[in-house]
Amino acid sequence: MTPPPTLAILAIGDELTSGERVDTNSAWIASKAAAMGVRTVEHRTVGDDQPRIARAMRDLAAQSTLLITTGGLGPTLDDLTRPALAEVLGSPLVEDPEALAALRKWYTGRSTPMPEANRVQALRPESARRLENPHGTAPGLAATLGQARIFCLPGPPREMCPMFDRFVTPALQAAPQMRVHVRIVPTFGLGESTVADLLGDLMNRERNPVVGTTASGGIVTCRIRYTGPAADADRLLEESIADIRGRLGPAVLSGHDPRDDGLALVRSVSDLLRQRGQTVATVESCTGGLLGEMITRLPGSSDVFAGGLLTYTDALKARLAGVDPSLIEQHGAVSREVALAMAAGGLERTGADHALAITGIAGPGGGSEAKPVGTVWIARACTKSEPEARRFRFQGGRDWVRQWSAMNALGMLRLSLLEAHCSLLGES
Ligand code: AMP
Ligand code: MG
Repeated sequence: MTPPPTLAILAIGDELTSGERVDTNSAWIASKAAAMGVRTVEHRTVGDDQPRIARAMRDLAAQSTLLITTGGLGPTLDDLTRPALAEVLGSPLVEDPEALAALRKWYTGRSTPMPEANRVQALRPESARRLENPHGTAPGLAATLGQARIFCLPGPPREMCPMFDRFVTPALQAAPQMRVHVRIVPTFGLGESTVADLLGDLMNRERNPVVGTTASGGIVTCRIRYTGPAADADRLLEESIADIRGRLGPAVLSGHDPRDDGLALVRSVSDLLRQRGQTVATVESCTGGLLGEMITRLPGSSDVFAGGLLTYTDALKARLAGVDPSLIEQHGAVSREVALAMAAGGLERTGADHALAITGIAGPGGGSEAKPVGTVWIARACTKSEPEARRFRFQGGRDWVRQWSAMNALGMLRLSLLEAHCSLLGES
């Protein structure tokens, strides 16, 4: 059986290697390929340097069945994809009369004479095929080197994307029995290495499906990849998801959510509230409204979000949330007692079913030995159950302390809605 197709992507341009511009082309191409069941095995970036471009082309073409390059097809001396491809193919550059005619037509349509410099864009390696570019002057090129098909596309996304759709998509169709199928399972509350420990053999690289993990913005995502016929994919991927659920328990936010947009936690909490016809209110100090902002990132959040009190000062903790000032005097604003009082006040003053309160030291100043920067108390109150408060010690600077605080507040509410035990989060 022929092995599954593999795609390598080569981004070319000094503006990319210098960091002036971010390579968005490669990400776009890889996600298109993934949607067609083709796995991208390597991204590489080289500057405008012919020997480097040629070396990268040779190397990537030897190790994958498809190579797509972007950039370096312009008319100037730093556009070196054409000569590099000619070098690699061992095929001289020749002028393509159709390409020249198309270039002349492009300029005639714009009522300007064609600059002589653009004539190089009509060159192509003799053994390569020209790919028409209705959106710009740089034609693309297609060629074969050994077992690999090579496509050279222009750099500007508005020219590259339509050329990809028209000429590369047909070549990317993997044989149905060789397609790559991916599901993602977002989790919250366990560190990435704990997740990896619990996944154990599922992460064995020889396995099919194989599971990998990525951590981003506080969410650890399991990616399950299966290579094989679509007919088996659903069953095998569902089995893996069930296995992951069994191993990670309530840390799993949802199965096979196709969106990896960082909103899995808030989506999960919103869904649970909506299913129960319940609402939540927030009472925030160090997060300054971030928790309410996170909840309202989802459209339709008015079903589940009552609103919030922003009680940054001690005075407003008392005035808006009804916190007894003597509690603040006695225990400090960052304490179990004050967090619980904030949550209770939130419930009472908003009429919501649940309230989440956050009070902590985001830093960089304001910490003490007993309460170092990153100390955050989060309380949860509910009209139907006992309140709870947990203390967290977050690291990573002000932004992270605030982000983690808001996320862990959501995490606490989520576990209580699921009636799962809080062993995942903070100290009680
Ligand atoms: P070129 O085909 O090298 O003349 O590319 C021209 C322009 O396309 C560059 O100045 C960038 O603005 C854009 N470009 C090139 N490569 C990329 C890339 N990998 N991702 C996003 N934009 C790119
Ligand atoms: Mg360039």
